[in-house]
Amino acid sequence: MNIFITGANRGLGYALVQKGLIEGHRIFAGVRTLDSTSGKELIKQMETTDQLIVLQVDVTNEDSVVHAKEKILAHSGSLDVIINNAGTLLEVESEIEELDIEACRQSFDVNTLGPLRVIKHLLPLLKKGSQPSILNISSDAGSLTNANGGNYPYGMSKAALNMLGEKLDRSLKEEDIQVLSIHPGWLRTDMGGQKAALDPMEPTDGIFRMLERKIHVSEGSRFVDFKGNKMNV
Ligand code: NDP
Repeated sequence: MNIFITGANRGLGYALVQKGLIEGHRIFAGVRTLDSTSGKELIKQMETTDQLIVLQVDVTNEDSVVHAKEKILAHSGSLDVIINNAGTLLEVESEIEELDIEACRQSFDVNTLGPLRVIKHLLPLLKKGSQPSILNISSDAGSLTNANGGNYPYGMSKAALNMLGEKLDRSLKEEDIQVLSIHPGWLRTDMGGQKAALDPMEPTDGIFRMLERKIHVSEGSRFVDFKGNKMNV
């Protein structure tokens, strides 16, 4: 499969790149800054395998998404999978009276509008793919029934991401494009912290089985955990 992944230089994104390479896929790895240490490591890895193509992609910058699309087109006429993984969890005051509205705007820009920009521009490539999928990496913090956890901007932006997934699923069903919003579990990454339950490699197997459609997500909401179990919307 030809797979495009955002936020590929660390955390879950990096784990998904490594899993995809092990499984023999061609990975287009979107990295915000190529000069970061981990970005440089991916570029080094790119020199050892033609399965990996590293692209500069800031999901808040529509031009960089368009540029990535041109690069992908130059390598391949189609994509089979888009994984919208890039995300941000900004620290904000928990009281609404103290809430930083600019942090809310930034959270939506990355967590909700980022995937929207990517899908807007890469959908034509996906439509030429084989059994294509869009995977939006969401969070249980985006569950309306879990509104007591997490902070305002993160929870709101992930709930809106889930709505994007549901709407896309309805509009792309006819074209057999699978759309999923996935809660990957609490992961030991910069975002999840070192006390988290799971190594970021752990959810990757379930995620890849869903991409291969070996785990079938039953009708209704597209919001699932990394094993394909339904999440509360
Ligand atoms: P990390 O904070 O470890 O990594 C975040 C990644 O997103 C980095 O690669 C970062 O790039 C990238 N990123 C942030 N902003 C942008 C941007 N504007 N453009 C492109 N890339 C960007 O997070 P995780 O790996 O833990 O999280 C991955 C996903 O999983 C996120 O969507 C998160 O919300 C979700 N998630 C994580 C959980 C956890 O416990 N960790 C739990 C539930 C969901 P850079 O290095 O340039 O900053």
